[in-house]
Amino acid sequence: MKRLVLVLLLSALLLGCAGFLTPEIEPTPAPTEPVSTPVEESVAFSTPIDETVAVPTDVPLTPPPLPTPTPTPTPQPPLYGIKIGIDPGHQARPNFATEPIAPQSETQQVKCSAGTVGIASGVAEYEVNLRVALKLAALLEAQGATVVLTRTSNDVNLSERERAEIMNENEVDLAIRLHCNGADDTRIRGAFMLVPARECTATFSENVRAAQAIIESYCAATDLPLRKNNGITYRDDQTGFNWCTRPVICIEMGHLSNESEDLLLTNDAFQDKMALGIYLGILGYFQPERTE
Ligand SMILES: [Zn+2]
Repeated sequence: MKRLVLVLLLSALLLGCAGFLTPEIEPTPAPTEPVSTPVEESVAFSTPIDETVAVPTDVPLTPPPLPTPTPTPTPQPPLYGIKIGIDPGHQARPNFATEPIAPQSETQQVKCSAGTVGIASGVAEYEVNLRVALKLAALLEAQGATVVLTRTSNDVNLSERERAEIMNENEVDLAIRLHCNGADDTRIRGAFMLVPARECTATFSENVRAAQAIIESYCAATDLPLRKNNGITYRDDQTGFNWCTRPVICIEMGHLSNESEDLLLTNDAFQDKMALGIYLGILGYFQPERTE
């Protein structure tokens, strides 16, 4: 009996020891395994990083074609798309036949009067008007405007009504008639504008705005004095206005009846200033934000 008990006790002791020993040995390798795993994982992470580095290097190769389609800005000249009508007043041979002064009017007026002549130079007004018109046309065209000239020669036969109709047919955005004045009093000097009277036009405010911009700029460029009512005179007796359905004004560029002014108006270099002054006024009228 005693032997059996001893065996049992021994075996129990051995099992018990084995039970205590096993848990102590096993936990040790367990922590080592998880440590090795994260190391492997971190290696695995390094691979995707390499891939993401490889992707950007490919991307920059594709963008270069992108800058090419960027819209190429084509800067338009300031008067692009604008149509200006220029009517150099008179012609070499006047036409004293008559035509109605206005649509449905019974009042008749001479088709094309002779105009004035330089008191000192002897140069005819129609000649000065054409020279300035051609200079003005070149300035306007250089800024992209389309220019409609009623005449490019002195040897024409155009009535005032026909000149107005040229402006209407071409649907000009602004018609400007160029003239020089003649006064009985040879001391009178200066430039001024003629504008259709309110009842003679459908574009009264536009006409006034254009006239103000141009006469101001013209006097500044030429240093000629401003004449008559702040430079603007309203007229209802102009065939060239009454038949015109487009915005229209007329500039009296100075007095050929005044000796000193005549010598300026008929001078080629001074005519450059005259054309420049009118051109700058037209530019200011169509591009008010540029001048303000
Ligand atoms: Zn005239």
